[in-house]
Amino acid sequence: MATNEIIKPVDVDISGSSIIINWDDGHRGIYPHRMLRLRCPCASCVEEMTGRALLDPDSVPQDVRALDQMAVGQYALQFLWSDAHYTGIYTYRALRAACTCIACNEARARQP
Ligand SMILES: [Zn+2]
Ligand SMILES: [Zn+2]
Repeated sequence: MATNEIIKPVDVDISGSSIIINWDDGHRGIYPHRMLRLRCPCASCVEEMTGRALLDPDSVPQDVRALDQMAVGQYALQFLWSDAHYTGIYTYRALRAACTCIACNEARARQP
């Protein structure tokens, strides 16, 4: 697979205690619901020009979870969250980078 080719989700399971995304390179991504909600990249959560966080984590319920998800074009996923927020578009690249599985956590810890 060419390195510039986008890795895509094969299957997205929002029913468990974490969101599980199976990627087409065989990787199984694990994403706690609230962690992904707090990483929402929409314009009301992150200031577009500066990247400054506008979302107050305290305003997001501890038990927030994805109620629905859908693909956006060929490059991103959109989630409907239980706090009625849905404007964030999570690119596959950003989702892959946010993976919290043991292998990804270890790979990040090795980076300088
Ligand atoms: Zn948002
Ligand atoms: Zn991973």
